[in-house]
Amino acid sequence: MIEQRMTQHSIIIAGGGLGGRFLCLGLQRQGVKAQILEGSDNLNESQLNAKGTALSIWPNAVSALTLVEPELGKKLNVIGAPITRTVVDPGVGKPLREINKPPGVLTMIRWNRLLELLDSYLPPSSINYNHRVEQIETDLQGLTIHIKNKPSITAKLLVGADGLWSKIRPIVLSDQPQTWQRPRFEGQGLWVGLLPPGSRTNQLACELCPSGEGRLFDQGVVFLFDCGEGFRYWRIRLPLSILKEYGLQWQRFAQENSEGIRTTEGKSGVKERLLDLSLKRRWPDKLHELFATMDENLICERGIFVHHVAPRWSLPGYNVVLLGDAAHGTSPVGGQGGAMAFEDGVVLASFLGKIFSESQEPDFQQYQWAISCYEKQRIPRATLVQMMNNVQGRRSFFGGEGQIELAPEENHPLVQEWLAKPDAYRQWQQNFVPFMQLTKESIEENIDIPVVR
Ligand SMILES: Cc1cc2nc3c(=O)[nH]c(=O)nc-3n(C[C@H](O)[C@H](O)[C@H](O)COP(=O)(O)OP(=O)(O)OC[C@H]3O[C@@H](n4cnc5c(N)ncnc54)[C@H](O)[C@@H]3O)c2cc1C
Repeated sequence: MIEQRMTQHSIIIAGGGLGGRFLCLGLQRQGVKAQILEGSDNLNESQLNAKGTALSIWPNAVSALTLVEPELGKKLNVIGAPITRTVVDPGVGKPLREINKPPGVLTMIRWNRLLELLDSYLPPSSINYNHRVEQIETDLQGLTIHIKNKPSITAKLLVGADGLWSKIRPIVLSDQPQTWQRPRFEGQGLWVGLLPPGSRTNQLACELCPSGEGRLFDQGVVFLFDCGEGFRYWRIRLPLSILKEYGLQWQRFAQENSEGIRTTEGKSGVKERLLDLSLKRRWPDKLHELFATMDENLICERGIFVHHVAPRWSLPGYNVVLLGDAAHGTSPVGGQGGAMAFEDGVVLASFLGKIFSESQEPDFQQYQWAISCYEKQRIPRATLVQMMNNVQGRRSFFGGEGQIELAPEENHPLVQEWLAKPDAYRQWQQNFVPFMQLTKESIEENIDIPVVR
């Protein structure tokens, strides 16, 4: 728990999302204590993203999670839903395509439940809710962290795990173009929601999408998935160019909220708009009924925002470093944002664990060493995944409809190389195992982007 006076902490993590919580757990397993400053009031009420979304968990995310806590892999499959079949559904008649996956490749889980699962291994005193970091000051003595309506604190290391709309990222990249500091809008709208068991909507969703399955309608515009414990998760994604054609007032929402997300609170007419969309795109009757019976308060609508690639994740000369979305926010389309945050967490916890094993109170230079090893190990891989997701997020609209501008990352030679070998890329992305125990080799070896063969 943060003491209410100017206390010097070793490690402060700004942001208690998936990345911040997981790093805290990884550090704990290395015998290192850290405190999380989380801006929201509590897990269930305030984290809009977490409240209405489910996440796809791929093998590389499971590898990172289980390196820190071996039980996590099993528990994920109990709380979440292992997906063994995905069907591209034309609405009437036979499926257009069926993709069967062996168990263990893809698990869908509610975002909040994953946070709760991480919490079950963390001491509650390590998370300080209602602690929103507003500013940091750096001087020769170290770091002072200013928190909204709370006394300031000092720390030896600050990890900015405060998500896509990070306060720490613009500080770290203050000498870089402004467009690299803040998220960029991808020209797409996203509507998501969870359908709790016991409702008529959930019943319809279960008829459309049985347990252990995912369904894609309208060539992937609508996506419906089992996400465990009787819940179903739905998502609609469309480029605003299509929505504009329909003459609807869709495009406003995406740019009008600086964080690109809002819950509709039953006032915005979002349900009417979704039903209108359903008629215009001729969605199957059952899908139309699903949206007609849906509780409007459970609909989240947002624009899709990502980050430009950053050349570094730390503030030169200071012990301030980014992790997760704050470092490499990417399109949610590829389902890799959470996985990258977990991989970051394993690697940063390992290097910090190493310096704490050498000294109870590491000095400035030791922290700098850990930061630079972390950046060296993580930037090549996470940046490539970020670029590929940004590119695929813009490209993956079906039937050539609603063309949008290609992502700026599209022309990067590595992206071009990997785009030509999608299966090899998928393997490289999903079969990666970050290290936990450091050896001399793992420190010196740069896990570089492998050459595509
Ligand atoms: C709709 C959607 C679907 C997605 N689907 C997937 C998926 O299927 N698979 C996948 O792997 N990833 C997915 N992602 C991405 C994934 O959720 C993120 O990459 C992941 O949550 C990143 O974790 P993080 O800890 O870096 O950031 P976050 O989880 O965003 O956590 C940041 C935390 O910082 C807090 N915070 C913000 N500002 C401050 C501040 N100033 N002071 C203190 N605290 C602050 C926030 O309240 C939040 O708790 C999806 C994202 C979205 C939006």
